[in-house]
Amino acid sequence: MPKRFLILLAVTALLALPQSQEPPAHQKLIPTLWVQSAVEWQASCRQTYLSARGALDEALRDSRWTAEISPSSLDPVRLATLPPSVVLDIDETLLDNSPGQARQVKAGSGFDHKLWNQWVSESKAQPIPGALDFCRYAASRGVTLFYISNRDAAHESATRTNLRGLGFPLPDGLDTVLLRGERPEWTSEKSTRRAHVAQTHRVLLLIGDDLGDFLHGARTTAAARRQLIAPYTQFWGRKWFILPNPSYGSWEDALFTPTIPTDLNEQLRRKLTVLDTAQP
Ligand SMILES: [Mg+2]
Repeated sequence: MPKRFLILLAVTALLALPQSQEPPAHQKLIPTLWVQSAVEWQASCRQTYLSARGALDEALRDSRWTAEISPSSLDPVRLATLPPSVVLDIDETLLDNSPGQARQVKAGSGFDHKLWNQWVSESKAQPIPGALDFCRYAASRGVTLFYISNRDAAHESATRTNLRGLGFPLPDGLDTVLLRGERPEWTSEKSTRRAHVAQTHRVLLLIGDDLGDFLHGARTTAAARRQLIAPYTQFWGRKWFILPNPSYGSWEDALFTPTIPTDLNEQLRRKLTVLDTAQP
């Protein structure tokens, strides 16, 4: 076989090889990377918890201070008799689940119950920057920490193992890990659990990463959410402290009301349609 022909064959074979593969587009790639690599994310979290610590000191000096807005939480005489507490969410508030999110990105999947259950059962989530120092400080000041999470009640043991292993305060003799479904009325709407805590404790601060950690009815349209928070502007940074979570939450679900498409490409298309380009 002529040498020239062999060279031609080799070049043709090389050209036929697949070019470097395009990475699959995944909606969670950038937010997951931000959480895992940006010191800006770490600084935002520390800033929130340091501010919360200052607010806690102020709250402890004021026997009428409450972060709860239900009417039963507003009676000053009753409030003064109750022991102090702080109510915190768990996921993306105390625990960083970005490795679990990264598994979904690599698998090219949307929220996957099997992957999530596996991640939670490993009890390996690391603390959100600043969370541990804050919780230990609050406990040292005699404040009871209640953890209200939409993790399923079946995950309580793994969740406690994770929290305890990191050193988050978990008192004996009082259930402070209040998960979804532990009681019939404890749905993903957290207000019933906040009311449960407010029966026995004065809630000094609420700390979370989702509007649902603060207000009833967060799962609604984006416009309704803006109306929902309007009366509470003065609560942020004083009684309510929020952590940045760009990866998921009721903010994202609100883009899809009334129903979230199961197809990931359809989700992306819908997200593109709500982008504001400030064009007439
Ligand atoms: Mg959360």
